[in-house]
Amino acid sequence: MDYTDTLREIASHVQPYIGSGEVASYIPPLAKIDPRQFGMALYTLDEGLFVIGDAYKRFSIQSISKVFAFAMAFNLLGDDIWSRLDREPSGTPFNSLVQLEVEYGKPRNPFINAGALVVADILVSHFAQPSLAVLQYLRRLVADDSVDIDLELAKAEQHLAHRNIAMAHFMKSFGNLQNGVDEVVDAYCNQCAIALSCAEVVMAGAFLANSGTCPIRSTVVTSRRQTRRINALMATCGTYDAAGDVAYRVGLPAKSGVGGGILAVVPGKATACVWAPGLDESGNSLVGTMALERLTEITGWSIF
Ligand code: GLU
Repeated sequence: MDYTDTLREIASHVQPYIGSGEVASYIPPLAKIDPRQFGMALYTLDEGLFVIGDAYKRFSIQSISKVFAFAMAFNLLGDDIWSRLDREPSGTPFNSLVQLEVEYGKPRNPFINAGALVVADILVSHFAQPSLAVLQYLRRLVADDSVDIDLELAKAEQHLAHRNIAMAHFMKSFGNLQNGVDEVVDAYCNQCAIALSCAEVVMAGAFLANSGTCPIRSTVVTSRRQTRRINALMATCGTYDAAGDVAYRVGLPAKSGVGGGILAVVPGKATACVWAPGLDESGNSLVGTMALERLTEITGWSIF
């Protein structure tokens, strides 16, 4: 099967909408990104890589990094991780503090900022250089050592990370952060500022479609059981406060980021990544979600 035509059809379907949505403006370097860009990559376990548009252009993966950081922490702690995190959709914005107070500093899930900060704290406890550990993890998955952190972007975010810092302090007051707030927030901002292209994101995430084994290197990244659970978390909590709508329209485990990228997993079959910087009201790439919706319409790959 050749998916070149599938991607072409998706690109022409979304063409009239390219440039729509708002780029994330609260991180200054992201505010400057031209929204009229669109790239998509598909990596199928049987047929390999297919790309269209700006699929080789690197972008800031932002919250897509939460999936990889969580996979690392889940490997380290196993099910003990659930003493520090929950696994329910939050129903609140990704950077909300509201629930933390009523739920005693335990974040709803690893894919909202509070949860990702706990994950970053776990990595800070285990690695001398936590940012480098996440970067190396991704470099191995993508098999490319040129993958890097956009340090200018990371710094810009660190300067304006008032909410993340507040959340981290708040969780620390409940005893759910073991390291210093600055160290944890820095590690978190660095992981968010890793730049990858769509073609690289589908490679990095391919283990999620392949029961935890990286299909390129044949190495076990996560156990079969953990992989199923990461996909479940992506399906229920991976696309901000629109996970229900994305399940309805697309029907795949997915994780989006405010850089405009979305990674989607077709368990047993494929990974897809779309990048289009304009975001919809919930913070998901507007054109990216449309493209994934079209993908599952054409292929019938929705898990539902
Ligand atoms: N670094 C961003 C933040 O913490 C990530 C947001 C996102 O992509 O969801 O605000």
